[in-house]
Amino acid sequence: MGTNSDERLLENQWYRVSSRLKAEIGETAHENWLKPLRVREINGSEVRIAVPSRFMRDWVVANYGERLRELWAGENPGIKSVDISIQPGSDTDPDEEPASPAAAAATTRTSLDTKQARGIVAPGEISAPLDPRFTFSNFVVGKPNEFAYAAARRVAEATSVPFNPLFLYGGVGLGKTHLMHAIAWDIVEGNPNRTVMYLSAEKFMYRFVRALREQNTVDFKEQFRSVDVLMIDDVQFIGGRDATQEEFFHTFNALVDQGRQIILSADKSPSDLEGVEERLKSRLNCGLVADIHATTYELRLAILETKAEQMKISAPPKVLEFLAHKITSNVRELEGALNRVAAHTQLVGRDLTLETTQDVLHDLLRANDRRVTIEEIQKRVAEHFNIRISDMHSARRARSVARPRQVAMYLAKQLTSRSLPEIGRKFGGRDHTTVMHAVRKVDELRENDGSFAEDVELLRRMLEG
Ligand code: ADP
Ligand code: MG
Repeated sequence: MGTNSDERLLENQWYRVSSRLKAEIGETAHENWLKPLRVREINGSEVRIAVPSRFMRDWVVANYGERLRELWAGENPGIKSVDISIQPGSDTDPDEEPASPAAAAATTRTSLDTKQARGIVAPGEISAPLDPRFTFSNFVVGKPNEFAYAAARRVAEATSVPFNPLFLYGGVGLGKTHLMHAIAWDIVEGNPNRTVMYLSAEKFMYRFVRALREQNTVDFKEQFRSVDVLMIDDVQFIGGRDATQEEFFHTFNALVDQGRQIILSADKSPSDLEGVEERLKSRLNCGLVADIHATTYELRLAILETKAEQMKISAPPKVLEFLAHKITSNVRELEGALNRVAAHTQLVGRDLTLETTQDVLHDLLRANDRRVTIEEIQKRVAEHFNIRISDMHSARRARSVARPRQVAMYLAKQLTSRSLPEIGRKFGGRDHTTVMHAVRKVDELRENDGSFAEDVELLRRMLEG
């Protein structure tokens, strides 16, 4: 890299790429696989990244290589490939095996002329590539997502516009993006003349701001208004940006008026979107709003079975059942866990067993274990103090029940990510100030009463298991 500003540019790009990837793959995987990477330089249309060992290189290339390239090209359209090579000592972790000189010479390239190139289905360069794995046939349907799935299929197969917009919402990693890409694939394959544009709300904003700066908003508008189907992913990010919202609203109305299909996703329902104007909210509510619920054990197991089959790994049912029980957060983490155990067993050439699974995933399992529910807390605390669970919700104020209730509220605040009002609701619809008071009271008692402090500590350890 020539100058400091080039270096800074590179650092900035890397920062954005790795943040995006982190959001996709989760904290743990990011820590394990991306943190140790060192971005060295951009050479022509190639980004050069160093990893400390062969094992890491193979893993990163196999699992994140393509996505890294894609994200990087999104940041910097000049980038066509990402070169990941071994450079011993590129990371300071002393536990890493040193790579041999032969290994150091080996590089692996993720180049543009792969399947991804097909994914660009829209006019101009504005649409993001579609993931070839995100199809309807790869989507496992179960109770939590059947409605959203049916709605997506309906839109994909329709010749007219059945509902406008289709608004998909649900928590992170539950399949929103997958369903949107699936709709796009279906439409494009069924009728190559229809133009589909898919992009993230972030990108929409970024383009819009750039167009403003370049005084080019007419072209910008034209690009959006000439598509048959417009999909914008993660629209919660539009909240609060007034100028972008305004533009979004107008683009939206223009497309609806012309009978074009609009599909949106967000992590919340239209009414719950923060920082979004009322008129836009009510517009968003006009079509079909379909939510994807948290996964159930059955769905998680079905997904694991499907993926294991696709990956051609023979996983004992016990292992899959174990994973479906333990990794309850979302499908992305579930997939990540399966990938990790599969890669591990392949690399060390051992059979996939329950033991190796527990071993390889100990960090992830611990993180999932820590997610205690308020119901569990109430049950444990009631047992401990010998009161009825119903007293957690009752209006009784006798100290014999009020104190345990306060302890449960306190633990709910400490061990879950629930807000004070949410906790209050779970305790018989109490006000958040009551919860706040309970937290303070318990803290105070812990300081002044050793045996009470021990009780609370014991309960906490039991719940954290
Ligand atoms: P979101 O956009 O809701 O955050 P994604 O659509 O990116 O989630 O899904 C995360 C990962 O989980 C993707 O790899 C996706 O293929 C997978 N996934 C989610 N739901 C399902 C499902 N029902 N069947 C198969 N794979 C799924
Ligand atoms: Mg998504």
